[in-house]
Amino acid sequence: MVATGLRKTYGATPALESADFSIRPGEVVAVMGPSGSGKSTLLHCLAGIVQPDGGQVRYRHQEMSAMPDAERSALRRGEFGFVFQFGQLVPELTCLENVALPLRLNGVRRRPAQERAAQWLARLEVDTVAGKRPGEISGGQGQRVAVARALVTGPRLVFADEPTGALDSLNGERVMRLLAAAAKDSGAAVVLVTHEPRVAAYSDREVVVRDGRCRDLEQEHAA
Ligand code: ADP
Ligand code: ADP
Repeated sequence: MVATGLRKTYGATPALESADFSIRPGEVVAVMGPSGSGKSTLLHCLAGIVQPDGGQVRYRHQEMSAMPDAERSALRRGEFGFVFQFGQLVPELTCLENVALPLRLNGVRRRPAQERAAQWLARLEVDTVAGKRPGEISGGQGQRVAVARALVTGPRLVFADEPTGALDSLNGERVMRLLAAAAKDSGAAVVLVTHEPRVAAYSDREVVVRDGRCRDLEQEHAA
């Protein structure tokens, strides 16, 4: 994915002024920068959740903003995975059902979906909470369940927005270690928004957003 000159303004607030970003298949890139600098807005533009006011996002030779909404949603469902600061698990479902849900929505039958979900819970070292609901588990466990849910469909690109932001450093590092390892195993690339250097240390490369600006030096070398 390659983004150039991204701009986004909310009312009178410029959130992004000129952001360049690139990520290669299988790469883990940390997006760093102070609070309010535009990191989340960059991630949302890259993921096609927010439509930028200007600039381009190219993914597999396609310009994302030129895609019809339906095609963009299909891309998100089929190729992207998401992890947020607070797991955003469905409270009424068990952890196993939460992880199986994206597969069920993609038409996978109940039994194989739950089998695959169980494998991912084990991979993230949370198989013991399979039958529990999100309200019955710790924050660190919840984030590991959320990572399992993001990876269960085999996405090519995972967007993680402060995935360890609500955790203490020990649990944060555990989540990050497992996320990075699981992504590497499955060949998924990860855009990781964080302001914690210890979390960014699990990335292959760091880019910095400051005052809505992001210069991606890799992109200059690639160009
Ligand atoms: P970061 O992730 O680095 O903390 P954000 O991208 O969340 O930065 O925010 C960048 C700027 O845009 C901030 O000034 C923020 O208040 C503003 N902003 C972000 N999202 C919205 C929104 N939905 N509506 C209005 N302003 C927003
Ligand atoms: P792990 O070391 O596997 O991350 P924890 O030490 O976080 O596990 O939690 C052990 C057990 O305590 C879990 O199985 C979970 O069900 C329960 N537990 C932990 N934190 C909470 C919480 N905030 N609310 C409810 N139950 C919790």
